[in-house]
Amino acid sequence: MERREFVSKTVVAGILGASRSTARGQPPGGRTGLRDLSSAGEPVIERPLPGRPHAGKVLAAIQPHADDVPLFAGGTVAKLVSEGYSGYLIRTSNDEKAGPGSVGEVVLSNERDTEAVAKALGLKKVFNLDYRNHRMDEISRQEMRGRLIFLIRMLKVDTVVCYDPWGLYEENPDHYVTAQVVESACWMAGMDKDYPEHLAAGLEPHAVQEKYYFARGPQLVNRVVDVTPWIDQKVEANLANVTQGPAGKNGARLRARLAGANRRLPILGDDDDTANRQYIKNIVLDLDSEHQRGIPSDHEVGRPYGLEWAERFHYIGPSESKLEAYVAAHAVPR
Ligand SMILES: [Zn+2]
Repeated sequence: MERREFVSKTVVAGILGASRSTARGQPPGGRTGLRDLSSAGEPVIERPLPGRPHAGKVLAAIQPHADDVPLFAGGTVAKLVSEGYSGYLIRTSNDEKAGPGSVGEVVLSNERDTEAVAKALGLKKVFNLDYRNHRMDEISRQEMRGRLIFLIRMLKVDTVVCYDPWGLYEENPDHYVTAQVVESACWMAGMDKDYPEHLAAGLEPHAVQEKYYFARGPQLVNRVVDVTPWIDQKVEANLANVTQGPAGKNGARLRARLAGANRRLPILGDDDDTANRQYIKNIVLDLDSEHQRGIPSDHEVGRPYGLEWAERFHYIGPSESKLEAYVAAHAVPR
């Protein structure tokens, strides 16, 4: 993530309060999430669903770095997978700049962390695109887009979770380049004249139908997801990032530092594993979230809606034509 301090709760709350959607589920007409963003309204609350309503659908969680999805959308990804999605993790950078040790060591350790993240979230496979960390704005976006279009078509991706291409004040080029290329790949994968060699190889056009976009800065939030049943799984995914980011084993490090001064924090428990999990849940995702993640606490996001733990997104859903219903209702014999 490589975060910075930047945005006050007031600003985020203002944006949250100003964010609009007429959407309730998947209403007919227009691309859900792009309409009526300037009028009054409340975000859609996405609650836990019984059974496996998403069985047969495919999810791609797409992140530049090993810790992005776990920090900002780990609960939602776990929720969607538990509700039936087959999920994949796509990491666009090689994470060579983030973590202790040499560049080569950092690349390997982040690759291993990413595999552990996928396992923790119930994702079936990792695809590492391995573009150089912090240098993503020098790559060919067209080349990256072509690779993502291939994956979307091959995996038949229905839904993506990624950074918001329109998130404000994002400083990391890996974040905004990935987000912008994902956004274009999602619809272009459905066209029949882009990359015709894919079609000759047996793939078919396949557009992404739903997008959950997260952001570190202000964004137009129109969906809040209740992740309460999956918060411990989100903690597990963040525990996997031992090489970079605010989570990993930092709870044990704090416990050791305090022990050196003959002190302890009761909330961290009596062993390192408990300290790591408690630190992630209560410090990274809650108490010190603004400083460590650059976003409000998952508790604070849920509180206005009566949810214990929640994540927020700009959601864009499928459009639905009114034409055929109009024809059925109004067509008369010639
Ligand atoms: Zn990142």
